[in-house]
Amino acid sequence: MICLNQTELFKNIQNSKHHAYLFYSLDEVLNNLVAENFAKMQICEKGNMCNNCYACLQFDKNTHPDVFKLKQDSIKVEDVNKIIANLSTTPLAGNKKVFLIFNADTINEISQNKLLKSLEEPVGNNIFILTATKTDKLLPTVLSRLNKIYLPTPSSEDRKIIVDEYMREGVDIKQFVNPDCSLTEAVRFASDNNFNATINSIFDLLVNLNTTADIPRVVCSLKEYDKTIFFACMQDIFISLANNSTKYARINEIKNRYSPRVLTKIIPLVEKAYLYQNSNVNFTYILDNLLFNILKEKFLCS
Ligand SMILES: [Zn+2]
Repeated sequence: MICLNQTELFKNIQNSKHHAYLFYSLDEVLNNLVAENFAKMQICEKGNMCNNCYACLQFDKNTHPDVFKLKQDSIKVEDVNKIIANLSTTPLAGNKKVFLIFNADTINEISQNKLLKSLEEPVGNNIFILTATKTDKLLPTVLSRLNKIYLPTPSSEDRKIIVDEYMREGVDIKQFVNPDCSLTEAVRFASDNNFNATINSIFDLLVNLNTTADIPRVVCSLKEYDKTIFFACMQDIFISLANNSTKYARINEIKNRYSPRVLTKIIPLVEKAYLYQNSNVNFTYILDNLLFNILKEKFLCS
């Protein structure tokens, strides 16, 4: 997969002849995606992450003998020790080993210092590829050893490619991948069925709500939603509307129904509903009231 004009990017990086790289931005998913591809390029038999050669296929299945991936929320001392122990062994398939360390900013200081030695004195053709969202959590000594590559927000073309890649893997991020939503957020939203179902239910509700007479019907027809996140989701939808955000694909279905003036009245009402919900007031009662008040504000403002 090519994103962020990765071919160009990677070619430039390759020419720099470093043995340790850091891909960083605030978007964790983006960092990891690009780092994976760069790692794959290192071991690809054709040298371009062709996705077809034996090495690429092994890489995708996480079975390549010369690729070591460290992917955890927080990296422990033992993990770093394991990497260091693996450094001096001979590569099995090709001429180099690739050490991929995701979220390197979660490695504690002691382990970072241990790693530093390997970064300072490269062994063989070994390559380190690290990712981080918070570079200030990395020791300055470690940072200075890394070829640092900042990743900008993907262009719309890159987004399309990224979406296709995720869709192939069964993660439906289409509706969330847009300039208002980081890749990390998009993947989280798309992987959370609860969240997805709740958002859809709220859109159904808002689309079918026109007069106060509709309230009992639309409330009864609500299905598959999570009460605990319902009002928070609804608030986010209205805030997205107010900010003209394209975060939700279905936002156009309700765009013309709420003027900016109405939205300034509605958003605090939803916030209040959210507070009530948290204090265990009956859900349907809160929702009935909220919908009534939303319609009242719409009526008063028109
Ligand atoms: Zn290949």
